[in-house]
Amino acid sequence: MLTIREDIPAGLLEAYPAELKSLLGGPTLIHLGGQAGEPVFISALLHGNEITGLLAIQALLKRYQSVPLPRAVSVFLGNVEAARVGKRLLPGQRDYNRIWMPGNGAEHDMAQAVLVEMRERGVFASVDVHNNTGKNPHYAIVAEAVESHLHFAALFSETVVYATCPDTTCTVAFSKLCPSVTLEAGLPGDPAGVERTVAFLDACLRIEDFSAVTPTPVNLFHTVAVVKISDCCSYGFGDEDVDVQLIADIDLLNFRELETGTRLARVRNTDSPCLDVRYVDGRQAYKDYFAVDRGYLQFTKPVMPAMLTTDRDIIALDCMCYLMERLTYSKLVGNSRDPR
Ligand SMILES: [Zn+2]
Repeated sequence: MLTIREDIPAGLLEAYPAELKSLLGGPTLIHLGGQAGEPVFISALLHGNEITGLLAIQALLKRYQSVPLPRAVSVFLGNVEAARVGKRLLPGQRDYNRIWMPGNGAEHDMAQAVLVEMRERGVFASVDVHNNTGKNPHYAIVAEAVESHLHFAALFSETVVYATCPDTTCTVAFSKLCPSVTLEAGLPGDPAGVERTVAFLDACLRIEDFSAVTPTPVNLFHTVAVVKISDCCSYGFGDEDVDVQLIADIDLLNFRELETGTRLARVRNTDSPCLDVRYVDGRQAYKDYFAVDRGYLQFTKPVMPAMLTTDRDIIALDCMCYLMERLTYSKLVGNSRDPR
């Protein structure tokens, strides 16, 4: 299902996301030569509705139409079928950012083929561009807590999240090969996110040596737990007639260090609050973070959430939110000595 080519297909730089399926046929890896030979891998549309990566790649390549790329680039355009209808993924498809470990299925085979191809080409760095649906700052995610990855991430944002879970993402897979980041570039297509992504990608092409990248101060956070709403429970916002009534504008809580007692929802069944909260190693975490008080679900310790959204489909497809803790740089780099 993977097409590999070494030219820019006619019309690609002007194409709308919905047109890629007919233009490319399916997931496509495009190798383009540059002055430095080891390529930067740039991945876009692993989620078909997250179009900022495509827009940034188009803008970047237009800059180099008449001058050589400073470094080779390998562009991967992932779920173009879902992009045709503006969805994260289609019914029956695997999530294209959960297929990067060996597994059964055409999508897993495709991801492994991309990894083999990029390993053989001596991939220099990897960038996977995403968007989110809630109000979040632009931030970068790394899966290795080592200086080269952190300094690379800091070129995009002073907010960096260290996350190794889920371990089936593109960034986790590439982090074993090269400095590797996920960019969370705000809402899909938001011009500020596109502009920032283009600036970052252009800077990537000019890095000669990661040890020479000047460290930038960053606010570092570590994902500690994932919060899901149990499958058997209904949920909604405000005063809908459901088991879990999430507060309206819940995404305003993202990346805020919240106090003990901060309320997230009103719950119908106070004995069984409908949340499945897991530490990144899979252990139950509900009791360590949440309690129900007079019908309200609230935090029992200071915590910072990310990826809270008012999009109910994303809650079903991905999760309700991630819980994060702040890390000091030295603590993070120190921790990283232990291989995952
Ligand atoms: Zn995504």
